[in-house]
Formats: sequence, structure tokens, C-alpha cells
Amino acid sequence: MIRVLIATSNPGKLRDFAGAAAPLGIEVAPLPNFDSIPTAVEDDLTFEANARKKAEYYSTFVPGEIVLADDSGLEVDCLGGAPGVHSARYAAGQPHLVGNNSDDQANNARLIRELKKNPAKERTGRFVCVIAVARDGKTLNAFRGQAEGLLLDSPRGSGGFGYDPLFYFPSIQKTFAELTPEEKAQYSHRGAAFRQFLDWYLTKN
Ligand code: IMP
Repeated sequence: MIRVLIATSNPGKLRDFAGAAAPLGIEVAPLPNFDSIPTAVEDDLTFEANARKKAEYYSTFVPGEIVLADDSGLEVDCLGGAPGVHSARYAAGQPHLVGNNSDDQANNARLIRELKKNPAKERTGRFVCVIAVARDGKTLNAFRGQAEGLLLDSPRGSGGFGYDPLFYFPSIQKTFAELTPEEKAQYSHRGAAFRQFLDWYLTKN
């Protein structure tokens, strides 16, 4: 069985990866002792640069192993692409301050306030996920997945994490917080990026 190590402390991301991997017979595991490793600095301005930085840094703690790291977020068109790479710290006021993360509830509250300044039909956006794969401090490849949707100004559903309750996916008429882990893997940006990783990995090995 293939086993890949994921460098994240975000339980929502881990659940998503497990949901994407399970039907394919792949095991995903958190990086050993992740919590005792000093956090990588995510100060770049693109998802890919941040994902590479995280994967390269964390891979140095497990010599010889393939390590996956994702950098992801929500881009809202009527907000000029915000919160974007600053998604995890949108409510913190000074999103450029690295490590200044705010919680999901506060981030969603800020997003709702900003959305309400714009007409509902203009509230289009997408989730983006870039997965970088590294070994021994070097990036081997990077994969980008996207999911296009509409942003709601009140939450729906109790699953998922982050902005999921506000992200409505028109083709199945549900928010991402209303999906099972398998459905989220099927439709989400993270599932799409993970499947590309796997295609590449299986052709290579
Ligand atoms: P990162 O750890 O810098 O990649 O932060 C990603 C942030 O983007 C998360 O904290 C969430 O706020 C948001 N995000 C990324 N992916 C998802 C998702 O699948 N659902 C909901 N929110 C997400």
C-alpha cells in the first residue's frame, strides 16, 4: 500500500486528504511529531510558492521520505481575489503579518460583512489548492486544483472546515459543509490536486 506523509496540523485538511486517498487504496499519515517542529513561515504571495516552501522545509525532518504540503484558500471575485493567500488570517486585520491566524468563525464573519457590500449575483469565487511534493528539502513537483462556486452570506451545513459553510457548489446545490468526506474529495480543489499528484506519482513509480 502507498503511504504519503502530509505536513499539516489542520484536522480539516487531513480529513479531506484521507477522503481523497481512501477510495484509491492509499494511506495518508500526518508527518511524525509535526507539532514539535517549528512552524514554516508562509510569507509568499502565491499558493504555489507557499506550498513549495512548506513541503521543502518539513521534508528535511524526515530524510528520504516524500512529503506533501498544501497551501490553499478562497478567492472571491468581487473582493478583488481576497482573502486569497491570506485566507487563514483574514479576520486578523493585518493579513500580511505571518503567523497571525484567526479562527474560522471570525474569518467567516468578516467574509459575510464584505460580501454584503456586493450584489448576490456578483459573489462568485473559487477554492484553490496547490499541493507541493518534496523530498530532502527539494520540490519534486506541484499540482493545482480549483473548485468554482458562489459565496453565501449565511452559513449552511455543519461539516467541513474554514469557509465551507459559505461556499455553495451549484452543480450539486450544496455547500461544501453539506458534503460527506467522499463527496468533498470528489468535488473539491484539494481532491482535484490530490488526484493529479497521484497520477504523477503512479506513472513515476
Ligand atoms: P493555509 O494553511 O495557509 O493553506 O490556509 C488555508 C485556509 O484557507 C484555511 O485556514 C481556510 O480558511 C481556507 N481553506 C482552504 N481550503 C479550504 C477548504 O477546503 N474549505 C474551507 N476553507 C478552506
